[in-house]
Amino acid sequence: PPGGGGGGEDCCVKVAVHVRPLIADEKAQGCKDCVTVVPGKPQVQIGTHSFTFDHVYGSTGSPSTAMFEECVAPLVDGLFQGYNATVLAYGQTGSGKTYTMGTGFKESYQAGIVPQVMSVLFGKIETLKHQTEFQLHVSFIEILKEEVRDLLDPSCLHKAESPNGHAGKVNVPGKPPIQIRESSNGVITLAGSTEVSVGSLKEMAAYLEQGSLSRATGSTNMNNQSSRSHAIFTITLEQMQKINSLSTGDGSQNDGMNDEYLCAKLHLVDLAGSERAKRTGSDGLRFKEGIHINKGLLALGNVISALGDEKKRKEGLHVPYRDSKLTRLLQDSLGGNSRTCMIVHFSNIVKMHLLLFPACISPADINAEETLNTLKYANRAR
Ligand code: ADP
Ligand code: MG
Repeated sequence: PPGGGGGGEDCCVKVAVHVRPLIADEKAQGCKDCVTVVPGKPQVQIGTHSFTFDHVYGSTGSPSTAMFEECVAPLVDGLFQGYNATVLAYGQTGSGKTYTMGTGFKESYQAGIVPQVMSVLFGKIETLKHQTEFQLHVSFIEILKEEVRDLLDPSCLHKAESPNGHAGKVNVPGKPPIQIRESSNGVITLAGSTEVSVGSLKEMAAYLEQGSLSRATGSTNMNNQSSRSHAIFTITLEQMQKINSLSTGDGSQNDGMNDEYLCAKLHLVDLAGSERAKRTGSDGLRFKEGIHINKGLLALGNVISALGDEKKRKEGLHVPYRDSKLTRLLQDSLGGNSRTCMIVHFSNIVKMHLLLFPACISPADINAEETLNTLKYANRAR
């Protein structure tokens, strides 16, 4: 069963709920706080409904530090042991997903999850680098209307800023579309997207910023765009034990046969807004996009509830990863199945998959219906 801060040996899905404070805009509209966090319990109440999760972070105090320590830091530790992990920020538009993740280009983003992940990651590497060789890569993509867009493609950013480039958000003409591929050992890769090698915290932060900017600048209405797409910042950590540092230390090159190699990735996902299409409303085009968003979120909900159902999992229930680009991309980092693959003389063991699911909710009474939907959705993961 879930709970405890250890990262979970047998549970692969953890749910944390984050209730942000009422914002000025809501106060100005006279909104009332309709969400109660039960003191001392990971429980929220809305109206007559009550939900219990692994963690609940209320609107008082600064949740980001506690949330990071309790929920995300164990996933970063897991990366160093070869565990893939995914952090998904779910919730309606305006509920605080981007704020919590720290992927907004204009937010004071140091407090967010992604910047904290980066600083802890480099801190750990610093303490381990005498015995282990590290390679870090990042990619940053966006899924909109079941199409993958590369947020680190410099030509995309350029196009978005170019005065006559009216459609900055489209993929660059002539470039083949980015494809999600699965290798024979079950590892999912993105073919055709930029995957950059990073050597420092500063570099990684620059890519985060570049991608966030690229996500925002292509659209005339920033919030509109980001509310309809899933943004996925992926950190891949490869490590190789330095055998020489453990054995004779005579400086001779070993042949690599005994090197222990581990590769794990962490997906940090700012999901599309979970509000229903009818609320986004308006023209037919928007509606179609709404359907696509629902496709990703719907598939994710189905995957997560299939994974969360241990009994069904043991009976070999089909997990519908292929139903959307989002779930397909996250397949090897959401799954409950252990996979062992041998790559030449490396032993690359993906042991278990840890998942954190911060569901973001607004406390305002005007959002009560969507908030209830969010809590119900998140509740399926348990
Ligand atoms: P989303 O990404 O879910 O659409 P945002 O992260 O953009 O939502 O947040 C919506 C608004 O609420 C922003 O103005 C943001 O600054 C504010 N906000 C979100 N979370 C918090 C928080 N924990 N504390 C204070 N303000 C917040
Ligand atoms: Mg957002």
